[in-house]
Amino acid sequence: MAAAVYVSTHPLIQHKLARLRAIDTKPPEFRELVAGISRGLLFEATRDLRLGPVTVKTPITEVTGHQIADRVGFVPVLRAGLGMAEAMLEALPEAAVWHLGLYRDHATLKPVTYYNKLPPKPEMDVGIVLDPMLATGGSAIAALDILRKTGMPRLIFVGLIAAPEGVTSLQAAHPDVPIFLAAIDSHLNELGYIVPGLGDAGDRQFGTA
Ligand code: URA
Repeated sequence: MAAAVYVSTHPLIQHKLARLRAIDTKPPEFRELVAGISRGLLFEATRDLRLGPVTVKTPITEVTGHQIADRVGFVPVLRAGLGMAEAMLEALPEAAVWHLGLYRDHATLKPVTYYNKLPPKPEMDVGIVLDPMLATGGSAIAALDILRKTGMPRLIFVGLIAAPEGVTSLQAAHPDVPIFLAAIDSHLNELGYIVPGLGDAGDRQFGTA
């Protein structure tokens, strides 16, 4: 069975997404919007995390509450995934962050790893790959391939905008990995950009256009 795809319809996320797409949104606001949408999607993507009991003392008495029992690692794909990881780390400060740098080889068109901070055997329960633009799916699939080889028990993908082509490829390559997004757009253009999309997510975050 194909992986579940969750596209947020939350009004705050959809409101921020329109500003994120706008050509006149400058890098400082763009980064804030990436952060806001990412945090919103994180809440959805982590809704199945396991909880354990914790007893705390309130000013009145003791009460048993919950604490996250799963150990979570974020895997931002460089460089566009950086803003997502930073925002998510604020929401879940106990998580680890493993940076992964991938580029597309012009001759083979295959993703090549140029930076990998993943430990060989991470002591974690859930790995969440972060890449804002799910275009062809090449980088997301490569990142999940790498993460899977470490023996990570549960994998999740979170992006901001996807092309239908990317969703289909990712579902085919990793049918057990749920996909969390703010939008699925129309198509990829001949240059590999998502249409209508938002342009280059790395350039727009870091002002390098
Ligand atoms: N990467 C981007 O940053 N934007 C796209 O539209 C596609 C891939």
